[in-house]
Amino acid sequence: MREENGCEWRAGEVEKEKTRRVRLKPINRQQMVLRPMDVERLVPEDHEVRAVWEFVGRLDLRQYYEEVDAVEGEAGRSAFDPRLMISLWIYAYSKGIGSGREISRLCEYDPAYQWLTGLESVNYHTLSDFRVTHKEALDELFAEVLGLLSAEGLISLERVMHDGSKVKACASGDTFRREERIRVHLELAREQVEAMGDPRAAEEVGPRVVKARQRAAREKQERLELALREMEKIRATKPSKAAKQEVRVSITDPEARVMKQSDGGYGPSYNVQISTDAKEKVIVGVGVSQCGSDYEELVSAEERVEEVMGSAPEQMVTDGGFVSRENILAMKQKGVDFIGPMGVSVAQSRGQLNRRGVDPTFYPEAFHYDAVCDAYRCPAGKSLRSDGEEKRPGRTNYKYRASAADCLKCPFKEKCCPQNEAMGRTIVRGVDDPVVVAHKEKMETEEAKQIYRQRGAVAEFPNAWLKEKIGLCRFRLRGLIKVGMEVLWACLAYNIQQWIRLCWRPQWAQV
Ligand code: SF4
Repeated sequence: MREENGCEWRAGEVEKEKTRRVRLKPINRQQMVLRPMDVERLVPEDHEVRAVWEFVGRLDLRQYYEEVDAVEGEAGRSAFDPRLMISLWIYAYSKGIGSGREISRLCEYDPAYQWLTGLESVNYHTLSDFRVTHKEALDELFAEVLGLLSAEGLISLERVMHDGSKVKACASGDTFRREERIRVHLELAREQVEAMGDPRAAEEVGPRVVKARQRAAREKQERLELALREMEKIRATKPSKAAKQEVRVSITDPEARVMKQSDGGYGPSYNVQISTDAKEKVIVGVGVSQCGSDYEELVSAEERVEEVMGSAPEQMVTDGGFVSRENILAMKQKGVDFIGPMGVSVAQSRGQLNRRGVDPTFYPEAFHYDAVCDAYRCPAGKSLRSDGEEKRPGRTNYKYRASAADCLKCPFKEKCCPQNEAMGRTIVRGVDDPVVVAHKEKMETEEAKQIYRQRGAVAEFPNAWLKEKIGLCRFRLRGLIKVGMEVLWACLAYNIQQWIRLCWRPQWAQV
């Protein structure tokens, strides 16, 4: 009976399904709509794009305005307001966008960009050119921003944390070539530039395409010529003839250098140096270098901060990569309190001894120094007498040597100085400059250790922000000057974000 009822129910439902038709909202893409738009209300009152516009409006942009060609009363198109172009780039960078094409696209539909431009389209060529054609004005802009942040009390210069970070260049590892290959490429590029002058080419593809091709060929030729000049610079740093011949340079970005990355790999990169004020983590100094090591960057980093802020930082804190005896002396001379752990010179000297085949039981600790006689006594009881000194910045190395006669007949020779064939074993006694000794003692104090512990949180924060949020893991531009400008734009965006977070946003929290 139930079975029969069930069959009746299903039969009813099937019948109902046959007659039921769902009703959905239609999608009409053929209609034309005319909607009123209040541009001012495209973004809310507390939208950060308004903060960027407000902040840029407070800056002195005279240098930018002086470079505008369009003037009232003369023919030609009006120029875009530099305040708008700067705001567009700053806002775009803060959202992780570093491409002129992408900004130009966003100006067509994104409310924040539409609000900034007042619904005006901006050509990507105009945006891209603006980013790289005002180097001095951009430097001035960075100083202006720091002046405003300083006036807001966000910078004290009491403690500046400095750090370096390798950022990949816009070139791959397989673009590196030796001189012969570069010369071949250069010859081809020159021939191409000459062939571009042929008027028949313009008839085939049109004058605009020819102009673009001419520019591309000319730029390629210039890049290859630059590659040869960079090759000479690198060769000048190489000690041997064989090493000089091995030098290779990227033909895509000749100014990039192969550097070790944080992930352990090697690749064409630039070394980005950032100084951060510890008070509110504002970036107070930016530099880009071609040098893979940080040792040589500290003094110039301090000078950049001094130049842009008008006074030197009271204290600079770095990791061990910046600490050398030269830097300790230089900071002392500049009156800057320098905090940073000494490097690993002991480990390095052990590496040298290891390479020379010296047994660990015959390392310098096994030799006894007699200050009265100014001589060492070796494990075999022989004397190593003074053999000259070498002065280096922050340290004097005193050399002591055993007599060749003693060593050559010594039963320990194979362990002590296996590679010495005609000379006795040497020991070097290094004596640090008092300034270096004082630095080492300072770094042993709890106060210095406690300051150093704060370094990571302050110095690495902007680096992480630039890489993670702005996406500055790889440069979009090429060449030392242009990548320097790219970093500067990113740092401007970072600093203005700090102002928005600390000064602008709190006023909306109170409303
Ligand atoms: S090799 Fe020379 S320095 Fe070394 S233990 Fe013998 S005598 Fe001394």
